[in-house]
Amino acid sequence: MQSKQVDVLIIGAGLSGLSVARFLLSERPDLSLMVLEKNDRPGGAIFSYSEEGYLAEWGAHGFLDNCEESRKLIGLAGLEGEAEKAPLGKFVRYVCLDGKLRLIPQSPKKILAASLVSPLAKLRVLGDLWRSPLAGEPSVAAWVEHRFGRALLPFADAVFTGTYAGDIDRLKIDAVMPGVRRLEQEHGSVIRGLFKKRKSLKKDPSGKGPALPAMTSFRTGMGRLPQALAQSLELNSQLLYRTEVQEVRRMAEGWEVQTGQHVLHCRDLVLALPVNQCLALLDSVAGMAQPPLSSLPEARIATIALGFSDKAKVPFGFGYLAPERENRFALGALFSSHMFPGRAPAGHILLEALVGGRRHPERLELADGEMVSRVYDDLRQLLDLPEPPSYARVLRPRAGIPQLEEGYSLLLDWRTQVQRDQQGLHICGFGWHGIGINDMVKEAGKSANGVLARTGQQAGEAEVKPVYF
Ligand SMILES: Cc1cc2nc3c(=O)[nH]c(=O)nc-3n(C[C@H](O)[C@H](O)[C@H](O)COP(=O)(O)OP(=O)(O)OC[C@H]3O[C@@H](n4cnc5c(N)ncnc54)[C@H](O)[C@@H]3O)c2cc1C
Repeated sequence: MQSKQVDVLIIGAGLSGLSVARFLLSERPDLSLMVLEKNDRPGGAIFSYSEEGYLAEWGAHGFLDNCEESRKLIGLAGLEGEAEKAPLGKFVRYVCLDGKLRLIPQSPKKILAASLVSPLAKLRVLGDLWRSPLAGEPSVAAWVEHRFGRALLPFADAVFTGTYAGDIDRLKIDAVMPGVRRLEQEHGSVIRGLFKKRKSLKKDPSGKGPALPAMTSFRTGMGRLPQALAQSLELNSQLLYRTEVQEVRRMAEGWEVQTGQHVLHCRDLVLALPVNQCLALLDSVAGMAQPPLSSLPEARIATIALGFSDKAKVPFGFGYLAPERENRFALGALFSSHMFPGRAPAGHILLEALVGGRRHPERLELADGEMVSRVYDDLRQLLDLPEPPSYARVLRPRAGIPQLEEGYSLLLDWRTQVQRDQQGLHICGFGWHGIGINDMVKEAGKSANGVLARTGQQAGEAEVKPVYF
């Protein structure tokens, strides 16, 4: 059994753990630091897959370029020159309504002008100005219906299908949109709150307002980001693969970490793990407050990558999402080679359909052949796909997407308390304060700052995130 002492030990070489390491070393290159990863590659839920000239993703397809911390991280990884961008201002998205794809404009003014809902339903949206805030911890569906009316439910469903593969009857609005909920509580109305917020922002001299962000990935796929972040750690022997942490223990000074091969000691311990894996590891730490939940539900999806010849006519845009009430097999599909050209061989296009999610885990049990044929049947009712796919691959990521449902807010309070009580313990990772890449990078930045300052984390003001389809 090998023994070692370092300043900082990071568990998990997914995007969160690698970001903490990168942020820390950029400020304090002198720190002795080690990252432990049970897998034999970096990136966790992020993993790109290339075959026969197609480039698909097991997990994340991209992230919006409107997050300062992510921009900083890309700079630190030296990847500015490899980023590919699909601007939201140029690319459109579709929602499947009554069996047809309907284009969703990105600007609120254009959405109001479009004939997506009846004039009466549009008037009902203004009901938000008079409705009092809903008490308790309402679901997304209950909250949207209360504030804006039933007609907006399919759109809310599409948004949260696209991000969480979730169920809006179970996701909690306070957990998934804390900033918007705060606007409601402070101003009595989301619309009024947004107007006040806009007014208080410094006027843009051009009068144009902020530009829409761009969906961002890399020429060789999202896997390039963790790969580049891991490179210098590998070179400096600061990253151990095939090293699963089995137990963590609080010591009089710092922390002890047990793997199959090592006992490691550190002053600061960073758990950069998905919520459930973090809870499992902390379960046996003596004297730690009990969490309010033993685990969060997770939603698993499969990605079905389909290649078609150019006889297929797929409209320009990012792709589409299908609300549950449409009763379709796929949750939606990305028009991947429109978004990022070069992801299919010349004369071909790549679509990536998503299946499963919180509501339909049973569909993930289907064999690959059945999955492909049911997805093709579904897609060709919505898109002009005269021939079956010439390429098909079913990707079944092991990682589930944490669902921010009942009790999630209490779990975040527990994390704050534990980080305050347990000196030198820092918690970030998949599902802690959001689930997207930008959320993870921001949380990783906070953990890095916590290590640097050793003051623990302060709960920042809940951010108002814009909704993009
Ligand atoms: C199917 C899917 C699609 C997604 N799409 C998008 C998207 O389009 N855009 C977006 O912004 N986000 C997306 N996400 C979310 C995004 O991928 C995550 O936010 C991010 O990858 C989480 O990174 P992480 O490092 O926190 O967790 P992980 O990626 O899960 O990394 C955790 C790491 O810890 C390791 N580990 C676990 N336990 C131990 C242990 N005991 N000892 C040692 N190592 C351990 C794991 O092997 C893993 O490598 C998607 C996620 C999934 C699953």
